[in-house]
Amino acid sequence: MDRTIKTELEEIRQRGLYRQTRLIRGRQGGRVNLDGRDVLMLCSNNYLGLADHPRLSEASIQAVEKYGTSSAASRLVSGTMELHEELEHTIAAFKQTESALVFNSGYAANVGVISALVGRGDLIFSDRLNHASIIDGSLLSGAKLVRYTHNNVEALKGLLEKYDSHQGRKLVVTDGVFSMDGDIAPLKEIAAQKQSADFLLMVDDAHGCGVLGDNGRGSAESLGVLDQIDIHIGTFGKALGSFGAYAALSSELREYLINRARSFIFSTSMPPAVLAASNEALCLVQSDEGRRLRKQLQGNTDIFRDRLRDAGFDLGEGTTQIIPVMCGDTDVTMQFSQQLLDRGIYLQGIRPPTVPSGSCRLRCTVMATHKPEELRHAADEIVSVGKELGVI
Ligand code: PMP
Repeated sequence: MDRTIKTELEEIRQRGLYRQTRLIRGRQGGRVNLDGRDVLMLCSNNYLGLADHPRLSEASIQAVEKYGTSSAASRLVSGTMELHEELEHTIAAFKQTESALVFNSGYAANVGVISALVGRGDLIFSDRLNHASIIDGSLLSGAKLVRYTHNNVEALKGLLEKYDSHQGRKLVVTDGVFSMDGDIAPLKEIAAQKQSADFLLMVDDAHGCGVLGDNGRGSAESLGVLDQIDIHIGTFGKALGSFGAYAALSSELREYLINRARSFIFSTSMPPAVLAASNEALCLVQSDEGRRLRKQLQGNTDIFRDRLRDAGFDLGEGTTQIIPVMCGDTDVTMQFSQQLLDRGIYLQGIRPPTVPSGSCRLRCTVMATHKPEELRHAADEIVSVGKELGVI
């Protein structure tokens, strides 16, 4: 048994796909201490810099003092506390839905929601580049998974027509902002398919929440289709600087998930400190400070993307704070990452199975709290290493 695990690990190493954790000492931020060195952080989802914001920390501290450290049970037993309900009201107002339900992570939300909503005999239409948790939830559900070409509404339309007479539930699911590519789903055009097909529309806006739209309500707000999405999924562990996730939806769907979503039913609910930080983050992103941070983030994103694009990198089609620098090969990608680290820039290489093979990349993520000169310097270093390695 042990020998086969050893062999498999060796195989992973030889294929250049070996992964290991890296230690960040101290706080998360635009600069961090990585393995004892001060480096520029360019691969965190802490887009607005809220992960060490004093308002969130203070909210957590107060919640611990008032409510203690744990809910000590799942929601349906005795783990529903005032802060769970308060956060769900804040989320529903934020997403302008009737109600909301909190999950312990985005992974748990996607797996729980999808496997509850559809099952054997039902259909899931899923963008080819959707997040792993959407795929896992789909496989777990037992429904038929029909994958459509990335962001291709014509392909989706064709598949909806093909399965027009299919009995059973249909779910269309897409990332709002694609996690490894940084492009935005054509939500308006996808929602328009409802005129000729009957389906539930679910959008996972893990990377748009807090970042896009005038009030930070995400990709659906920025595209003017907030009211056309049946299930909004969002996470607190990225731009919102906390942890956990939500589904914002109708009261009826909430009631249904409470009775059917196994990752909700069979797991200890979120602790007070985390709930309070999430609630504070949602208030913050809708305030003037949130607007200021989003403006800074967009400014920083433009500076960084323009400089890399001008140097000739393939950056894909995205416009958001997630900027993939396409490298292709695993070895080149990992060398690229290591050489940047030697120059004080922390940028992880992304390899299969996170992205399709042959499309390895450096996934750069810009933060509102980066200084423009730090980003210009980092872009220049990326250009210099990219030339040495023959990527450009
Ligand atoms: N959905 C998407 C699109 C994601 O990128 C991620 C996290 N990488 C998740 C869901 C999972 O969220 P969490 O980290 O809260 O489990």
